[in-house]
Amino acid sequence: MRPETLRDIGEFGLIKRIAGRPAKKPSVLAGIGDDAAVISVGAALRGRPKKGTRTWVPLLITTDTLVEDVHFWADSPPSELGWKALAVNISDIAAMGGIPQYYLMSLSLPDRISIEYLDLLISGMKTAARRYGLSLVGGDTTSSPDRIYISVTVIGVASDGVLLRSGARPGDTVFVTGTLGDSALGLKILEEERIIKKKRGSRGPEVKTIIKRHLKPTPRVKEGVLLSKCGIVSSMIDISDGLLADLGHICEESRAGARLLLDQLPLSRGFRSLSMDYGGIDLALSGGEDYELLFTARGPIASVLDKTRGIKCTPIGKIVKHEGITVVGTHGDTYIPKGRGYDHFKK
Ligand code: ADP
Ligand code: MG
Repeated sequence: MRPETLRDIGEFGLIKRIAGRPAKKPSVLAGIGDDAAVISVGAALRGRPKKGTRTWVPLLITTDTLVEDVHFWADSPPSELGWKALAVNISDIAAMGGIPQYYLMSLSLPDRISIEYLDLLISGMKTAARRYGLSLVGGDTTSSPDRIYISVTVIGVASDGVLLRSGARPGDTVFVTGTLGDSALGLKILEEERIIKKKRGSRGPEVKTIIKRHLKPTPRVKEGVLLSKCGIVSSMIDISDGLLADLGHICEESRAGARLLLDQLPLSRGFRSLSMDYGGIDLALSGGEDYELLFTARGPIASVLDKTRGIKCTPIGKIVKHEGITVVGTHGDTYIPKGRGYDHFKK
């Protein structure tokens, strides 16, 4: 019999094995299994946090790595790459309703890398840090035999309540900010350009916008803070693995299921006009790296939209009791998606 490998258990099987049953200190309010860990600094100093006191000021900590030839190519624009390496971490803090504050950056680099490339990479990251108000407080630097590895850790604080993946309940409405599928479409177009060796300068404005959504994502910090304050949001996650996969994480942590309405998915104009040749609506369902916020909220849709006024969000489905996600198509039929989202090991 063939020995079991990572291909069999996948990324999430591996994380489950690592997580096991960790001995949890009382100061760890949420550990492995959410977008960021939630640590109570007050409790670490003084024991278990007292309910209803502000002494437990939660600290949010998250880390994400970008790897050459997995997340980007050596000829991807370095300034956007630097932005993205920080932005994807900021997005995980936003997904908890938090405000990012500090970051650490670890670089593992082959010695072939030019100084011009490095300067652009670092300046892209600093631009994101300035835009979102973060200070660099450390990191690590090593050589790498072949590929570039960029690993970033971001530390944030919770503005009000912390929004976990586990709070969704049957009857809650599922919402998403912004539009879906643009980043996955941008990646498909970039892949095609590489194959046919098309020049960057020949891109039309719509293609440029879609590609930018992939290379330079916008973390939804302001939106996350507002959602954590409005009192009706029951769970939240950012979309990094794809809508179905990330809604799956909310469902799993909340022990519930969901019904999604295909016709309700918010799509950009560029996506509507370009996506048909690259996979169509499945890019919005399973394509990753939108870095939009996916959340569930209680109460009538009109009242949720009223309380979240000022942020662009769309109701796309409901949380239901029975586990699993159903996608309802245009004529009330069940739509069978072509993929389930990104997994690093299961292809
Ligand atoms: P996200 O897509 O939000 O960055 P991931 O899918 O990368 O989240 O990770 C899911 C959860 O598993 C997170 O809580 C993360 O901290 C945890 N995790 C991932 N890899 C590891 C690891 N190697 N060791 C411990 N925890 C991990
Ligand atoms: Mg996340």
